[in-house]
Amino acid sequence: MGQIIACANQKGGVGKTTTVVNLSTYLALAGDAVLVIDLDPQGNTTSGFGLDRDEIRHSIYEAIIEDRRVSDLIVTTAIPGLSMVPSSISLAGAEVELAPLPQRERRLARILSDLVDSYDYIILDCPPSLGLLTVNALTAADAVVIPIQCEYYALEGLSQLIATINLVRNHLNPDLAIKGVVLTMYDPRTNLSAEVDAEVRKHLGPAVFDTVIPRSVRLSEAPSYGLPIALYRPDSKGAEAYSALAAELRERDGKPEPVARSASSEGDAEVEDNPKAADRSSR
Ligand code: ATP
Ligand code: MG
Repeated sequence: MGQIIACANQKGGVGKTTTVVNLSTYLALAGDAVLVIDLDPQGNTTSGFGLDRDEIRHSIYEAIIEDRRVSDLIVTTAIPGLSMVPSSISLAGAEVELAPLPQRERRLARILSDLVDSYDYIILDCPPSLGLLTVNALTAADAVVIPIQCEYYALEGLSQLIATINLVRNHLNPDLAIKGVVLTMYDPRTNLSAEVDAEVRKHLGPAVFDTVIPRSVRLSEAPSYGLPIALYRPDSKGAEAYSALAAELRERDGKPEPVARSASSEGDAEVEDNPKAADRSSR
């Protein structure tokens, strides 16, 4: 049975796209069949996988608004086991075009229902708003992953997001779960990151993934090469962190550890690069 996961936070620039690109890559590298859908008109996930937005002929817009079959819109990526449906700028109009349509919140859920069993994970990258595209994603999803940036005001807006999730649960998708909250852009040199970490864990408890994504120049460079971090700098601490996040998510889903990964070498790297993560792993 496949699982649909929406990566959502209406706050801009918190690491949704970076998380979608790299988490989905490591899930695929662990052996899962993964489909990524870029629901953001900005198309950063699409370009993050190296797809040239000027050359893309089809996008998820055509399925949501024009009733085309999603299976006709899927393209492959450089990662084995990972395909995607690109975004296009026309998606910017979709919020308005969806408004008068019947079942406007359920269109994505409907078009994905045939596909869900062909994949282990379908991962949706949401735009930074709580508009109809995000509501469609939350309605289609089994679970949501919420990236939170380790900065001042980190929790600002979170209550609005949780309220939206609850509204969707009450009216559209009663089984929507929170898969986890992931702290991003953690800087071990600052007290602020540690404070945000403590604050978020105090409020959200076990919903927060143990794995913390460090601030990493390599992670921010990778999209300009159209590469997930696993292909750009597989030895970087950002790569280690997203690999660990994928492992943690799979563990939450009760999946066995992939044979290819060596826990010990990962642990060593974390001791060096991310004292916080290392501290956690020894608990
Ligand atoms: P938007 O709301 O615009 O869709 P987003 O939530 O998808 O943004 P990203 O695009 O993933 O956020 O990240 C915002 C910026 O921060 C990007 O330039 C990205 O490269 C950078 N970034 C994301 N995560 C990290 C990280 N861990 N370390 C350093 N830079 C990062
Ligand atoms: Mg984004």
